[in-house]
Amino acid sequence: MRFLSALLTDGTDIRTVCHLGRTIPSRLRTAIEMRDRTCVVPGCDVGRHLEIDHITPVTDGGPTRIDNLARLCRWHHYLKTHRGYHLLGKPGSWRFDNPEQGAMQPGRSPDTLSRSGTARSP
Ligand SMILES: [Zn+2]
Repeated sequence: MRFLSALLTDGTDIRTVCHLGRTIPSRLRTAIEMRDRTCVVPGCDVGRHLEIDHITPVTDGGPTRIDNLARLCRWHHYLKTHRGYHLLGKPGSWRFDNPEQGAMQPGRSPDTLSRSGTARSP
């Protein structure tokens, strides 16, 4: 919880910051960026152009709160949003899998998808 201590210096406990909308308040964004320096999917070390994901989507009642947010690379965000993958666990012990395809192996793309996110021709 080293990242929290830096944010507590101004008296704000980032763990209590919750926002009802989809937008992410700047203090919360900073905390997520400090916690998730790379994509949180095990084996993925992408550290640029990361996107903040609501683990439980806002449309399903997921709060904009630190324990419901994680940073993903574009590829893993795409898989989670459009291909049925789930991010499970907690910081430091995430799992990324698809109930239909099983756990994703580190650095391996699903067989039916190219890295660009488009389906391959059969
Ligand atoms: Zn990734």
